[in-house]
Amino acid sequence: MTVSVTAIPMLADNYSWLLKDSGTGKLGIVDPAEAAPAIAAIEAAGGRLDVIFLTHHHGDHIDGAPELKTKYGAKIVGNAGDAHRLPKLDIAVQEGDYVPFGAANARVIATPGHTIGHIAYYFGDGGLLFCGDTMFSLGCGKLFEGTAEDMYESLQKFAELPKETLVCAGHEYTQSNAKFALFVDPQNAALQARAAQVAQLRGEGKATLPVTLGVEMASNPFLRALDAASLKRLRTAKDHFS
Ligand code: ZN
Ligand code: FE
Repeated sequence: MTVSVTAIPMLADNYSWLLKDSGTGKLGIVDPAEAAPAIAAIEAAGGRLDVIFLTHHHGDHIDGAPELKTKYGAKIVGNAGDAHRLPKLDIAVQEGDYVPFGAANARVIATPGHTIGHIAYYFGDGGLLFCGDTMFSLGCGKLFEGTAEDMYESLQKFAELPKETLVCAGHEYTQSNAKFALFVDPQNAALQARAAQVAQLRGEGKATLPVTLGVEMASNPFLRALDAASLKRLRTAKDHFS
């Protein structure tokens, strides 16, 4: 794998992701909510920006994109079906398309649920998944536009990827998600271990992402085939969590 990735904290709890292709020096960014922290990270990494990958149209994922495009001449990539509500796209994509980035390729995965037009980007060579607000560590995105069935199908697409894939999600929601996950699935040792790790990381002011898909498969209740007792707790969970 020639692409490395760095989290750039933005707004209250967003992560934008900076990509660097070591062979060509090309830089890319995923979901820039703000321009200023992106520019600081870009300048420190080489002072160029080639590609801006957008997962969905919410402001906390796109608002920094126009300024970055103007400053660096980067190409904006986003879902063709959502072009009417995204910054002007240079590369309009759909499910199954590949977006070249240096020596690597990002495969576009349609992941409706949080929004109808949400897409994820998967770099198969070395395993990076940029899943926006479809999946978070120990949770998934709110259903603003799609149905629960849409979200389930989208998460199942992630579940088919290699377990060593690094999950790069759009928000630092892991600690609050852990409370819900532990309520639903209290006997899960992998979840208990992840929750303890998360508490330590957040106590040190550190990011809980990226995380491997294998850890999520073992601990995220939305990726696990839950047993009957956990499903029963899941049905009562809405009385405990709003
Ligand atoms: Zn969103
Ligand atoms: Fe968001």
